[in-house]
Amino acid sequence: MALIEVKNLSYKYPTSKGDVLKNLNFSIEKGEFCSIIGCNGSGKTTLCSALRGFVPNFYKGELNGEIILDGQDMSELSMGELAMKIGYVFQNPFIQISGIKGTVFEEVAYGLENLGVDPEEIKARVEKMFEFLQIEYLKDKDPFALSGGQKQRVALASILVMEPDVLVIDEPTSQLDPIGTEEVFQTIKLMKEMGKTIILVEHKIELVAEYSDHIILLDDGEIVMDGPAKEVLSSENVLEHNTAIPQFAQLCLALKNSGLPVDDVAITEDECINVMEKILTKEAVL
Ligand code: ADP
Repeated sequence: MALIEVKNLSYKYPTSKGDVLKNLNFSIEKGEFCSIIGCNGSGKTTLCSALRGFVPNFYKGELNGEIILDGQDMSELSMGELAMKIGYVFQNPFIQISGIKGTVFEEVAYGLENLGVDPEEIKARVEKMFEFLQIEYLKDKDPFALSGGQKQRVALASILVMEPDVLVIDEPTSQLDPIGTEEVFQTIKLMKEMGKTIILVEHKIELVAEYSDHIILLDDGEIVMDGPAKEVLSSENVLEHNTAIPQFAQLCLALKNSGLPVDDVAITEDECINVMEKILTKEAVL
């Protein structure tokens, strides 16, 4: 059984003209890294909000259909229960810092303190998290003195320390430079290695291709493609929905169209190098 099953999900904000999510059906397996892609306004953030229970709970509006989480109808779970099962990381790392804690260590411990967890256990869990995410060196710093990438990694650690099964991460690198982006993806990779189920919204399609197992492409609130990352991101059909495919795939498709013997549409750098090597060997033989 899939960890998350979405059935006939539609949603309308109180002020939107019609449905912004339209009869969505999909499932996500436990431990899967699923990216939601699509152009601006296609419904990605709204879908993340639905998966976290923010719609309709906070935004009100009309939700129809079902989201089944680990066999349980999500509408039957309280916001507190949901928060324990699904962690949500926002686009802007600045708004996630509580502003009341002097060090990164205290900041990451804050959520557990609120739950009344025993101080010794908090210390052990936070220390383990720092070690696992390789951010011990940030422990004693002022959260506000961190770079954008470091703030976002601390935000990820604060969510992860609560031990949710699922992480919904909405454009975590939109405000970061390339180094910050790389750091955040390293952290997300470690989260996948921990066995977490990850649902990511991200525009940087090369990174999406490198890390994702599964892709859902939205256009105007509808799912237009849903499948393994390789299958979706090597398809020219994605372009028809104003969404990019990796530059490696574009290059392979262009070479193929020009008549070269391309036997694979690569979506990652490593795959692309393989394709190039094969072309060069074949060309040399001819
Ligand atoms: P994306 O994340 O793909 O850019 P969104 O989920 O933010 O898309 O938006 C999907 C649609 O919902 C858009 O048409 C947007 O204008 C509308 N929308 C988003 N937030 C609200 C809101 N709070 N109230 C009304 N309409 C909204």
